[in-house]
Amino acid sequence: MSRITPLVRPNIAALAPYSTARDEYDGPLGIFLDANESPYNNGYNRYPDPHQAALKARICALKGLRPENLFLGNGSDEAIDLVFRIFCTPGRDNAVVIAPSYGMYTVAAAINDVAVRTVPLGASFDLDTEALLGACDADTRLLFLCSPNNPSGNAFPKQQLLEICARFPGVVVVDEAYVDFSEKGSLAAEAMARDNLIVLQTLSKARAMAGLRIGMAISSTEVIRLMSQVKYPYNLSRAAMEKAMALLEAPVEGQVAILIRERERLAAALPRFPFVRTVFPSDANFLLVRVADADALYAWLLAQGIIVRNRSRVAGCAGCLRLTVGLPEENDRLLQALESYRYE
Ligand code: PMP
Repeated sequence: MSRITPLVRPNIAALAPYSTARDEYDGPLGIFLDANESPYNNGYNRYPDPHQAALKARICALKGLRPENLFLGNGSDEAIDLVFRIFCTPGRDNAVVIAPSYGMYTVAAAINDVAVRTVPLGASFDLDTEALLGACDADTRLLFLCSPNNPSGNAFPKQQLLEICARFPGVVVVDEAYVDFSEKGSLAAEAMARDNLIVLQTLSKARAMAGLRIGMAISSTEVIRLMSQVKYPYNLSRAAMEKAMALLEAPVEGQVAILIRERERLAAALPRFPFVRTVFPSDANFLLVRVADADALYAWLLAQGIIVRNRSRVAGCAGCLRLTVGLPEENDRLLQALESYRYE
């Protein structure tokens, strides 16, 4: 029994998971009359592998993980929802999130009828360990940290995240959606070795597969077993898995290096503009920028055909736009549009 075993909702601990036809027999040859599929082969008439063995093996080889420590979901958003369903009793337990951060933690909490306690980050989006742990009580099951954080862009120090894991008696979720753009490193190896850390990653960002919807959770074998039992049996489609396998053959390091270089180019260029107040340091593929009049600049850019994210109504982000780093020529277009912006 680990530290998290008593935190699992009793109905989940007692769950008899659905057993698919392919759990009983998954050999390659034979006459398959077991799953009520159509026998007419169009490439997709058979259900996909519910254990996603081939894609897991490929991702594990790329990332140095073990399959029993890896969950694959329909985007990392699926994993976020699953941890609420596994660890939080609706109407009783709570989760602690930082602000500003990725909005889905709060939405998934609300969907699951779980109260959220919000801990504001500091002026430079730094994390106050004591404030975070001070917000937790005996019913706090989950603590969500996003590093590099969306929308601020900064990654938190690894040692600080590990100290929080050591001191928090519940489950710590560290969302590393943007980790490939950061030099501060991943906690994936630590997540396999600890009992209360779940690291989320995704193929949607640096791996350029947002349209396929494939997210990952890396954790102890116990947590991964629970997530695998609670997910829909066929949560990843055959089409998505096949396409991901093919796309994973092409390395993305070159693209990531360009995006990091472009991020730094934009970060150096933006403070030149009189209406730019602050460019926050970023370890991700976007920049949070505080400007004189975020709504006006947003509207101006939109009129030029450049769509950015207006975060100015998000707590801690007054006056801020979030700019995703694009292709070099797209970033040039952004800078040109900013040159021609008339700010009174
Ligand atoms: N986590 C963070 C921090 C994100 O910003 C996003 C997407 N914007 C996600 C998770 C969702 O990723 P996925 O496409 O894997 O669901």
